[in-house]
Amino acid sequence: MDGGRAEGTSKHTGLTVLAGPTAVGKGTVSTYIRDTYPEVWLSVSATTRPARPGEQEGVHYFFKSPEEFDRLVEEGAFLEWAVVHGRNRYGTLRASVEDAIAKGKAVLLEIDLQGARQVKAAMPEARFVFLAPPTWEEMVRRLVGRGTESPEEQQARLETAKIELAAEPEFDFTVVNDDVRRAADELVSLMGLTPHARQSAR
Ligand code: 5GP
Repeated sequence: MDGGRAEGTSKHTGLTVLAGPTAVGKGTVSTYIRDTYPEVWLSVSATTRPARPGEQEGVHYFFKSPEEFDRLVEEGAFLEWAVVHGRNRYGTLRASVEDAIAKGKAVLLEIDLQGARQVKAAMPEARFVFLAPPTWEEMVRRLVGRGTESPEEQQARLETAKIELAAEPEFDFTVVNDDVRRAADELVSLMGLTPHARQSAR
């Protein structure tokens, strides 16, 4: 599929997948993009996770019961889906994403690594962007957090982080999340769009 506003780099697709290790700040970057870049079509996933305060149906997620999610899986409604953090299921709704791509929109999926691998198998021509922490030390700080986890839990999180970081070579591009706005602007540029000019410091 040639053409469309999103064609800006070597790949010929409007689809960009953003993934990366847990706690790297994917959610913060995608929230910033949702608020700042209306020209990006950010996919709204379905999930079995209950809504958090302030989250709206159809804006942050489509909230589904496990039975509803099962039905969508059976219908083949998902481009990809995965159990994330061993708990809830999350999935990208195929029809809305394909429709947005067909309309030439700059489509962004913010999903976990398992989901990114499924999209790569289904749509290898998409653009795959790995969001990386600035340093391993910073990542450890974010993961270990406030010291509320047991040493075993902390160790488990760090092991997971190591495995997740090793996935970077599977991606076309790496964006370092040293600063949310800078990382979001870099991502938008990779998508072939023009980053907004920044206001000078207030
Ligand atoms: P949260 O529950 O904090 O909103 O998201 C938890 C994790 O689920 C994040 O790592 C996010 O990238 C991932 N996620 C959100 N939507 C999807 C999706 O549609 N598919 C997959 N595979 N992961 C998702």
